[in-house]
Amino acid sequence: MTSQVNVIGVIGAGHMGAGIAEVAAQAGLEVLLTDVDRDACARGLNRIAYNVDRAVSRGRLGSEARDDLLGRIRITLEPKDMARTALVIEAVVEDESVKAPIFHELNRLCPPEVIFASNTSSISITRMGARSGRAQRFIGIHFMNPAPVMKLVEIVRGLATSDETYAAAQALVQRLGKVAITAQDCPGFIVNRVLLPMINEAIFALYEGIGGVVDIDTGMKLGTNQPMGPLELADLIGLDTCLAVMEVLHKGLGDDKYRPCPLLKKYVDAGYLGRKTSRGFYRYGEQGKPVAPGI
Ligand code: NAD
Repeated sequence: MTSQVNVIGVIGAGHMGAGIAEVAAQAGLEVLLTDVDRDACARGLNRIAYNVDRAVSRGRLGSEARDDLLGRIRITLEPKDMARTALVIEAVVEDESVKAPIFHELNRLCPPEVIFASNTSSISITRMGARSGRAQRFIGIHFMNPAPVMKLVEIVRGLATSDETYAAAQALVQRLGKVAITAQDCPGFIVNRVLLPMINEAIFALYEGIGGVVDIDTGMKLGTNQPMGPLELADLIGLDTCLAVMEVLHKGLGDDKYRPCPLLKKYVDAGYLGRKTSRGFYRYGEQGKPVAPGI
């Protein structure tokens, strides 16, 4: 029988971590949210409060429910607090050398029944599970961006992930009101295996002068019925994350068709990471709306 998860830990209070915390608290779970950066915790909590206040002002949430929701999220800077949870979701930067030590430490701190999940966009669940020391209770739970809005969650089984862990992940995703798909553990899984090469190709189209930023995005929006052009979407995902995923695809699949576009590397080198730095392929004003092509 699968035990129900009532308290979750979320490691990383950035864009995805804060979104996952909001979704879980909305579904009635208690959440412990942590980050190496104290300010990131405060920013994450502010973003959640902004979202729920907007829901209240639009009549989708009562003010008591708002207070209850926010009251279920607790910030902690103490990794040992994660021992109190039933499942920990890691949502730190897309870099295995940062993620792996976190799981190693968690394995030392948490009782053996605690499930470890990664929100990674592309990195091997099998390898991170093996390195964590609890491969059977390790799984990928990959939320889409923005987590509170997007319906889909990709569940990724590592080679050693147990049936019980998989069932617990499925039950959690259902409780959060999301739709789960199951992907094999392969670089980029399903969604990013298809999406990121398309975004990378759009950046190549810009790099080669085939079209400008607006032409490329308008072409893909109106020509292929996408709600957002690939360059605007890259800015939303974060250009550092896009580059990290392309590097995982390139290295993991060994095919040059996945090589990251040099222009993507240049933007990341420049610190133009998209919305999170107010500049990427677009510039972003106060309201977070793209105001003009970045270059
Ligand atoms: P982000 O840059 O917004 O946030 C990352 C956070 O991790 C930062 O707040 C940073 O301070 C924190 N961090 C770094 N090292 C840490 C450590 N050792 N311990 C605790 N916290 C640490 O990134 P994001 O967009 O939220 O992405 C997080 C993860 O989610 C990545 O694995 C990414 O691939 C994945 N993801 C991203 C998207 C997307 O569209 N951005 C979608 C799905 C999944």
